[in-house]
Amino acid sequence: MSRSDGRANDQLREIKLSPGFIDSADGSVFIEWGKTRVVCTASIEEKVPPFLMNTGMGWVSAEYGMLPASTDKRKQRDGRRGGQVDGRTVEIQRIIGRVLRGVVKQKALGPRTIWIDCDVIQADGGTRTASVTGAWVALYLAIKKLRDRGQLKKDPLISGVAGVSVGIVDGEPRLDLSYEEDSRAEADFNFFMTHEGDVIEVQGSAEKHPVKRDLFLACHDLAEVGIKRLMSIQNQVLIGTL
Ligand code: UDP
Repeated sequence: MSRSDGRANDQLREIKLSPGFIDSADGSVFIEWGKTRVVCTASIEEKVPPFLMNTGMGWVSAEYGMLPASTDKRKQRDGRRGGQVDGRTVEIQRIIGRVLRGVVKQKALGPRTIWIDCDVIQADGGTRTASVTGAWVALYLAIKKLRDRGQLKKDPLISGVAGVSVGIVDGEPRLDLSYEEDSRAEADFNFFMTHEGDVIEVQGSAEKHPVKRDLFLACHDLAEVGIKRLMSIQNQVLIGTL
């Protein structure tokens, strides 16, 4: 069966990264991934959370949000009118922080925090994978700023990282689901992997029936194809900023 937007099963949607999108941030990128669009920024703060005080180690923390009009049905802003931050938001921002910390040497970063903010202005599936993929570029640019100012002895970045979704739709493993595919997927996984193809986090679930090992491994293989492609897009925009 073919995909509704005509893509091959191993094909990503079109992706464009615009670095330096926000002048006031230490690092920023606007990522357009199919119809999903996310503003990602990295801001340096010269202090660390209490549990890291006097350790010399740094921290990377993330926040995620969606604009009210980013979805078909208006989404109320978190924390407004007495509302709580919803569970999905908390889950996604923790993933972004964990995955980015997975490629940062805390000791080499030194006693400072890099705050990552991912704000979705339009959502069409894959906002967490777009957030991580864009946020890594913003993080790289913020770290470059520290390096250029002579504030780092060693490079804290171990590797690049990106995220991509793979789902089983119409019985077939498919790379990078749009909302239309995501909403009827039999299983949906988000893979966060380094540029070397090593796994930092896999998140997902079978939504209609348990997934056989071979099918899951086929999803892993597709994710690797996606991450390689994302790596080349990330590296290409960074070369343009050097
Ligand atoms: N979505 C929505 N309203 C919400 C949450 C999600 O319309 O409150 C849509 C949006 O297009 C999003 C998609 O559902 O991208 C899939 O959401 P999911 O929670 O699977 O996360 P994502 O794929 O964006 O990482």
